[in-house]
Amino acid sequence: MRNIALLGSTGSIGRQTLDVVRHEPDMKVTALTAHKNIALLEEQIREFSPGIACVTEAADAADLAARVADLPVRIVCGVEGMTEAAVDPACDTVLTAVVGMIGIRPTIAAIRAGKDIALANKETMVCAGHIIIPLAKEHGVSILPVDSEHSAIFQCLHGNRQNKVRRILLTASGGPFRGMKYEQTALVTAADALKHPNWTMGAKITIDSADMVNKALEVMEAHWLFDVSYDQIEVLVHPQSIVHSMVEYEDGAVMAQMGAPDMRLPIQYALTYPDRHPMDTQKLDFFAIKDLTFEKPDPKAFPGLPLGISAGRTGGSMPAVFNAANEWANAKFRNGEITFHGITDMIAEAMDRHKVIADPTVDEIEAAQKEVDDYLSTL
Ligand code: NDP
Ligand code: MG
Repeated sequence: MRNIALLGSTGSIGRQTLDVVRHEPDMKVTALTAHKNIALLEEQIREFSPGIACVTEAADAADLAARVADLPVRIVCGVEGMTEAAVDPACDTVLTAVVGMIGIRPTIAAIRAGKDIALANKETMVCAGHIIIPLAKEHGVSILPVDSEHSAIFQCLHGNRQNKVRRILLTASGGPFRGMKYEQTALVTAADALKHPNWTMGAKITIDSADMVNKALEVMEAHWLFDVSYDQIEVLVHPQSIVHSMVEYEDGAVMAQMGAPDMRLPIQYALTYPDRHPMDTQKLDFFAIKDLTFEKPDPKAFPGLPLGISAGRTGGSMPAVFNAANEWANAKFRNGEITFHGITDMIAEAMDRHKVIADPTVDEIEAAQKEVDDYLSTL
């Protein structure tokens, strides 16, 4: 039985997680959390009967409490409420599907309380991997990747733990602007960037995929999850999104995990690990797949990728600054306030002026975020 606290239940990953739970009699939801979407959260509470539900604002919590007054669910709010949901004795696993570094505190609290983490919320690992990984070891909890590439790598590592990894081959779809030169993306709009060719995801990560900042975040995520150096991680643009990532061993053998692009598979695997359960996903038809192609990413056209990798190599508080600047700029671009190139320009500005703190605490990570937000607001 998996008793799951689902943080970010109203989002793309959250809704797909609930779809998995619907088909798994051995899974129960102990908590559901959302930011503002109380209408959907109410529906989810009625269907999944969690003991706790959380929203960000107190006023929304009061509204939600009135809507579900007929049910035995406790309504809480804010990051404290999310943390309460994550450490609740009723749950053994926390699936983190909130977007952004708001997930850091609840994730750390959950690990301290001995919960396994099914991790979709990559921003948390990027900013606080140096805290999370040792803490998970100390508390003997598993970090089960939900991100499709990291789930693929995790699966390719099975049965090979004793063998040395030579390289992680991290695939990227290339997004809607694949093949374009830098000058060609100057005038693209948020609507253009939101048209992802292979995956339907939340708005923030879809923009992150269009400028390849998502892949930079994933390189940092892989660095922490799999204890590999940045030199060992290679990004391959693979537009078909069939090979979800690969691991190359010392003898040159390469293990790949393949499948139709469907996030329910990595979500389900994180929750059933080490078992595999049946699933109604589309199966690969190798005769219908005409090509599996791989290209080198173009760092000039997509400067977010090398910027992120350099933030990862610098380490300390720099990945948090890269991430915070991106969260800020990504939201401004979606609002039509800055250009597509403005996103990576803002990230570069924020990184340039930051004085790196080695081994930052959560307070220092949050202070770095505030410093970035304050600075970028003045531009
Ligand atoms: P969505 O934007 O679709 O959903 C985000 C969820 O988090 C919603 O439930 C939202 O609530 C909640 N949320 C948003 N802001 C806050 C906040 N400030 N405080 C608390 N809760 C908040 O995102 P996705 O599902 O696409 O992505 C979630 C995470 O998973 C991200 O880190 C992303 O990078 C990662 N991921 C996503 C993939 C995908 O296919 N979507 C693939 C791999 C990784 P509300 O609905 O009320 O706003
Ligand atoms: Mg991914």
